[in-house]
Amino acid sequence: MSDTPQYGFDTLQIHAGARPDPATGARQTPIYQTTAYVFRDADHAAALFNLQEVGYIYSRLTNPTVAVLQERLATLEGGVGAVCCSSGHAAQIMALFPLMGPGKNVVASTRLYGGTITQFSQTIKRFGWSAKFVDFDDLDAVREAIDDDTRAIFGESISNPGGYVTDIRAVADVADAAGLPLIIDNTSATPYLCRPIEQGATLVVHSLTKFLTGNGTVTGGVIVDSGQFDWSASDKFPSLSEPESAYHGLKFHETFGPLAFTFHGIAVGLRDLGMTLNPQSAHYTLMGIETLSLRMERHVQNAETVAKWLENDPRVASVTYAGLDSSPYAERVSRCYPKGAGALFTVQLKDGYDACVKLVDSLEIFSHVANLGDTRSLIIHSASTTHRQLTPEQQEAAGASPDMVRLSIGIEDASDLIADLDQGLAKATA
Ligand SMILES: *Cc1c(COP(=O)(O)O)cnc(C)c1O
Repeated sequence: MSDTPQYGFDTLQIHAGARPDPATGARQTPIYQTTAYVFRDADHAAALFNLQEVGYIYSRLTNPTVAVLQERLATLEGGVGAVCCSSGHAAQIMALFPLMGPGKNVVASTRLYGGTITQFSQTIKRFGWSAKFVDFDDLDAVREAIDDDTRAIFGESISNPGGYVTDIRAVADVADAAGLPLIIDNTSATPYLCRPIEQGATLVVHSLTKFLTGNGTVTGGVIVDSGQFDWSASDKFPSLSEPESAYHGLKFHETFGPLAFTFHGIAVGLRDLGMTLNPQSAHYTLMGIETLSLRMERHVQNAETVAKWLENDPRVASVTYAGLDSSPYAERVSRCYPKGAGALFTVQLKDGYDACVKLVDSLEIFSHVANLGDTRSLIIHSASTTHRQLTPEQQEAAGASPDMVRLSIGIEDASDLIADLDQGLAKATA
């Protein structure tokens, strides 16, 4: 199927990027479990290695199963290309890699997945990169944090763990004015609830591990490229605008135009960093995406029902779900996220830390795991697990205080989820 944009989301989530297998007619995308591909002759091999012809060389760079997934994700997000990687964290490094250099910084939201805060505040220092964390609701603070060495702005659409929602258009305007790319982690929203490129984002990253695969079987990531950023407008992005010595002086932006970032991601990023997604995982993710809209609708419906019940429960101090009418983000949700605010939020218990730990141990349907975006409902006490490496101030800012648990609402019967929480809260507060 050609990627004709007139098809609706539900059609594209099943068909985009896929064709019946040319060799066998197989309708489902085969798992091309191969490391290498036979060259037609020596000239063909040389043209592929010189990037003069596009084709398959070696599965660290490209693989036909992974290529279908890349095309599907690019289509669903409204981008021109995508690069899949071995995890969501790999996708973040791969997104920053062509933009950053020693001494350069990324301006990032304080409300990020705990692992991302650790990656940005600790690990990237080893590359000579740094991050400045600011509240993305305070646009002046974002503006003030940007300096001559800033190379990217990074935030989450619906943030983990609190489920707060970002006004992407407003942050994109700040990034545009500074001539910088905006990278949005769209893991918790998925392209069904939010398409960051339509709201001005340059790159979209995902952990495929979560809602996109949707059933807790895969670790994977992707970067989707909007193709809309002018990498040559300043001298800030030499990896894309200047001659690349590893390709005989080829200039990616001049040669590949809107696909410069995508080609660089494969030809340099995957080639040299090797954070490759395997074809088996790509296949599972393709299967998951076929039902993305159906699952997300039910995730949202259940999250709204469960959050409303929790908000009215006397044992609960507060619920952060942005989809509640009482949320300070309610107006932003209706304006920027009209299909709903996702299925991830935190619950604060009046009885504090001990009650949180007891609740986690008392639930029967909810699984206690460090994951989200599964068909199954999940719970975790962020402060003692995913956000454990953070300072109390960082925990607070991220929405992961010790008296809070994070819920990822699945697609089971909402009444069963409520009954389970009710019995768990009874034990936790006894
Ligand atoms: C899980 C997650 C990541 C990291 O993805 P992995 O696939 O676990 O590496 C990044 N961002 C968000 C919002 C996540 O939920």
